[in-house]
Amino acid sequence: MCPYCSAELTLKKLEKETEGRGFFKQETMYSCPKCKKVLGFSRGKFTS
Ligand SMILES: [Zn+2]
Repeated sequence: MCPYCSAELTLKKLEKETEGRGFFKQETMYSCPKCKKVLGFSRGKFTS
């Protein structure tokens, strides 16, 4: 559930916006497709 608009969310539904600021600084931003609030970030393909 989105904490902002209570929309039902799955990983597939989450919008992914990849910000490419150079090869080594890639961030993927996850935002709610309904209210566009940013829910989190992940850096690159690997999360720790
Ligand atoms: Zn939302």
